[in-house]
Amino acid sequence: MMGSRQVEQGALFYNFSIGAHVPVDHLLRSIDRFVDLSELRGDLAPFYSSMGRPSIDPELMIRMLIVGYCFGIRSERRLCEEVHLNLAYRWFCRLGLDGDVPDHSTFSKNRHGRFRQSDLLRRVFETVLQRCMREGLVGGEGVAVDASLIKADANRQKGIEGEKGLPLEATGRATQEYLAKLDDGAFGAATEVTPKFISPADPAARWTGAHGGQAFFAYSTNYLIDVDNAIIVDVEATTAIRQAEVLAAKRMIERSMERFALYPARLMGDSAYGSAEMLGWLVHEHGIEPHITVFDKSARQDGTFSRDDFTYDHVRDRYLCPGGKKLTTTGTLVNDHATMLYRASKHDCAGCVLKLRCCPNTPARKVPRSIHEGARDMARQIAKSDEGRMSRRLRKKVEMLFAHLKRKIGRASCRERV
Ligand code: SF4
Repeated sequence: MMGSRQVEQGALFYNFSIGAHVPVDHLLRSIDRFVDLSELRGDLAPFYSSMGRPSIDPELMIRMLIVGYCFGIRSERRLCEEVHLNLAYRWFCRLGLDGDVPDHSTFSKNRHGRFRQSDLLRRVFETVLQRCMREGLVGGEGVAVDASLIKADANRQKGIEGEKGLPLEATGRATQEYLAKLDDGAFGAATEVTPKFISPADPAARWTGAHGGQAFFAYSTNYLIDVDNAIIVDVEATTAIRQAEVLAAKRMIERSMERFALYPARLMGDSAYGSAEMLGWLVHEHGIEPHITVFDKSARQDGTFSRDDFTYDHVRDRYLCPGGKKLTTTGTLVNDHATMLYRASKHDCAGCVLKLRCCPNTPARKVPRSIHEGARDMARQIAKSDEGRMSRRLRKKVEMLFAHLKRKIGRASCRERV
């Protein structure tokens, strides 16, 4: 017999527990056990007036942000709607069945105002990291660094020529933030090269063709991770060029030392971090082993001997050329005091049978050597070892986290600085 739904008079009272309707294996249940925002109110207190109507609870907004990040909800308006409708989100945000969800404009104002001024999101991030450290998830021995381009939500067709600069009428928040960052080494001061195009809607985004295809506006997100369990120990947003990414790596390493006493024994990274200066900074200033591919453009393409064909004698501080003659230095520094020149004698070169393969256009051969060449040699040695091979595998964990960010959390692009 076909049944039918009984339409009855609605009950006067319901016995309803919102928590009972959130599945035990729901992601938010797992997260909720570890979320501790007890210090949040104290951090934000200076940014609220002591008078007037009570504000929206900041903990509610942070919990909503966590929902947004976990489920790839990027629009503030949609996040407010989803939290309003979804029982699990309501439960996580402690809203109950009839709690009011803040208006999306209030949410947005707090996020871009108080939260940013108080650096609240970094505090939340650090609270999570400290918890990971207490749980023993961060070894602190080996860390890896990498950067990934995040496409800016800026229309590439509306870019204006970089040489012309921003129009005078551009005064929005994104422009103000861009102007405030002009002297920051991770943004405006990272390079003196004027970009080909600037986005008037998001001027801090950098025009880049780094992916090899069509150029676009982008930022870089930089991660420093502990390789034991791929825990992100620091993050920094920069403009999308290599110099800024290297600076971000230094900032993250120093910050994790200052804030959390994390002194890694080795840093893993690709050749973007393999400049002589960066390797010297790691080895000589911080005693960190560079498990990094050396950035080396000394190989010659014209068939003449490259620097690798000359053997450096550490004890006597001199090179031996393929003809067995010595190249010495006076110790004078050139190229911004970063390089020493080692010269062969004109007499040796003049009578050398290898001259055409060595220095066909000059009377004698000279070989430049960075003052950080010792650190580069160390990185080369490590790269050939089993440890180096293992490090190259481990550093792929950062790429996995970038894939997670872009594919699962849906942050392949952003509207402004992340
Ligand atoms: S040309 Fe000079 S530096 Fe080059 S191999 Fe001959 S002696 Fe050595």
